[in-house]
Amino acid sequence: MKYKHALFLNPYVESSSTSIMGLFPPTGLEYVATSAKDYVQKVTLLDLRYEKEFASKDKLLDFIRENNVDILCISIVWDRQFQEICSLLNYMPDEIPLVVGGYKATLEVEKLLQSCSKIDIVVRGEGEETIKDIMKDLSLEDIQGISYRLNGKIQHNKTRPLCSVDDISYPDRSLRRVKYRIALNGVDITKLTFDTVLSARGCPNDCKFCTFKLNPLGQKRNYSTRQVESVVNEIQNLDAEAILFSDDNFFSNIKRAERICDLLIERKVKKRFFAQARIEIANHPHLLEKIVKVGFKLLLLGIESPHDHILAQLNKGFDSFAIRRSFEVLRRYPIYYHGYFIYGNINETEDEMLYIAKFAREIGVDSITFQKLRIEKFSGLKNLAESTPGYHVTDRGELYSDKYSHAALKRIGRKIKFFFYTPFRLLRIVKKALSVGLLTFREIVCFFTLSPRLLKGLINRELEKKRLKDSLKRIFIKNN
Ligand code: SF4
Repeated sequence: MKYKHALFLNPYVESSSTSIMGLFPPTGLEYVATSAKDYVQKVTLLDLRYEKEFASKDKLLDFIRENNVDILCISIVWDRQFQEICSLLNYMPDEIPLVVGGYKATLEVEKLLQSCSKIDIVVRGEGEETIKDIMKDLSLEDIQGISYRLNGKIQHNKTRPLCSVDDISYPDRSLRRVKYRIALNGVDITKLTFDTVLSARGCPNDCKFCTFKLNPLGQKRNYSTRQVESVVNEIQNLDAEAILFSDDNFFSNIKRAERICDLLIERKVKKRFFAQARIEIANHPHLLEKIVKVGFKLLLLGIESPHDHILAQLNKGFDSFAIRRSFEVLRRYPIYYHGYFIYGNINETEDEMLYIAKFAREIGVDSITFQKLRIEKFSGLKNLAESTPGYHVTDRGELYSDKYSHAALKRIGRKIKFFFYTPFRLLRIVKKALSVGLLTFREIVCFFTLSPRLLKGLINRELEKKRLKDSLKRIFIKNN
């Protein structure tokens, strides 16, 4: 073996002001580290969100030297902390090969190779197969899917074809040095251990705004599934009590989802399951009954908009009537529903954006998150956004218009939040989370005890309401 000790590093450092962190293991990096295992004598996985002592660059350098690390693999996934991570890369030792990969690294391949002189290789797209060739020390020109410098110029090798998800080994959890739990402001609040399982890659649908269904190179991932047995074996071997299926839509293939549930029931696997889904799952009451029996507690549903013209623009594949009809069915099952919405869409008015809160209450979704429409590099809405008069897209993919600036959209977002998240709603959330078994009483108490900001927000909100009522009363008395 060419390399003795490979260090795989998740370089994100979480500040104490972060609200909920540490929940998600760095699954992408774990997949790649697991693939590398057979080609290097030793693999170490460091997650800087947890291993705070290595947030100091010098300490990290000491660790690398003291442990004879001879190849470094760092994933860059998000926009945030990009500059900090670049400066960390430039601090790495000259003599150790430095490989970077991940979603953001793929998007910024040129920028990274130009600004971080210490980088030797950027892995573009999915890295499970590419890392094997790197560890085998093949010559760079023979490795598909990488970029590097050659005679002072950036060289991009041919893109590696996507492999089937069934050919990839699932993450070896024994590489972890930490347990992933729900932590709030760095405090382990619930003792609830958490893990993610990928049962399929890709999504057969084609929502225009969505880049999840694409790999970082903009290629649409073919919907590719793992063997049912393999998925259930993986779950059975996990210590974690709560499992999130990280598939884009766990129920894309209804029959297969049902087979996974059957096997989980047969093997008496007892865990709390969470999954992303589409509203069409409501067309399969038989499956809904089964997922309740298995222990599915939370479904994350992309609803996106209450308006038919927006749903059509997004190519969501359903309309507002279908959403209402689906929720009439979904509400009958003891599952917690979280809905995702998008606002600030092209040609959407402020009133239409604000209607999200009312619509969400009407359909009976338990909680919502809403995001401004983003036009990512490979978004199917790019042409529309660029050709619609008055609309603009920033380099970071943020969409705004002459009528709705960033600040105006932010204000609207705050109003949606204000209208939806009333104190009454928060009580309902707690009640529902308890009644369906999403969280235990202890977990909820821990959450509120350790989240003074949330409590303060509720109290302020009540005071604000009282002040508003008092001033309306005063105006009324004065005018009568
Ligand atoms: S939004 Fe969801 S359903 Fe639509 S293409 Fe993306 S992953 Fe698939």
